[in-house]
Amino acid sequence: MQKRPAYDDIFMELAVNLSKRSHCVKRQVGAVLVKDTRIVSIGYNGPPAGTHNCDEQWPEEGCPRDSKGSCSLALHAEENAILYAVQNGTSIEGCTLYVTLSPCIACARIVFSMKISKVIYLQSYAQYKGLAIDEGVDFLQRFGVEVAQYQGTLANLT
Ligand SMILES: [Zn+2]
Ligand SMILES: [Zn+2]
Repeated sequence: MQKRPAYDDIFMELAVNLSKRSHCVKRQVGAVLVKDTRIVSIGYNGPPAGTHNCDEQWPEEGCPRDSKGSCSLALHAEENAILYAVQNGTSIEGCTLYVTLSPCIACARIVFSMKISKVIYLQSYAQYKGLAIDEGVDFLQRFGVEVAQYQGTLANLT
């Protein structure tokens, strides 16, 4: 008999697949918001719908960078997932956020404010950026949001 997949594997796999839809030339990130094992919202990083597609508009040089070297136009995957839920009047209090890259400090503030209770991430933002500490993760943990790095079977595939 085939082993039944854990929900962590299912939602993280979806987040990884969603990240592949991103037009970002630098880093692709996917996010899934889940409540009681049901999907509430999804998102991936990119400028607001109907504005820019960075890879198509600036295929050579990439899109304009901000002071931290990130895309200056993009909403992050978590922001897109949260905004969609808010826009549609869906409560995300108590949700679990699955995200392929741990939240940056700006997203961490939003995650906390929206009362998301748990964050499971695949890869470390600090490691990706070459920073000493994961500011976003530290912030969330300090103020009582449960944060864990994904440890499931998918971790071996990436
Ligand atoms: Zn961009
Ligand atoms: Zn962010």
